Amino acid sequence: MSCPDCTAAAQRSHWMFTAGCRGCIARGVARLPQFRKVRDAGVLDRAYRQLLEQAGVTHDEVKRAAAADFEQRAQAERGQQRRAA
Ligand SMILES: [Zn+2]
Repeated sequence: MSCPDCTAAAQRSHWMFTAGCRGCIARGVARLPQFRKVRDAGVLDRAYRQLLEQAGVTHDEVKRAAAADFEQRAQAERGQQRRAA
């Protein structure tokens, strides 16, 4: 599910979220440090599972939102630049 904010977030750095949109909720979770930790560790820890439960979205939805999120890609690129430096 997506909305104009999801579409905008896929195209540029965008920090608006539509209430009730699963894509926006998933994108919000994808931007949290808990998701980054899980992605880096490759393990869904307890805190993250609780977060998914509270948000009402699945890990797959969050992963998809992260992959579609321009801001996430920009952050990943900055991270790679930091590591390379
Ligand atoms: Zn949305």
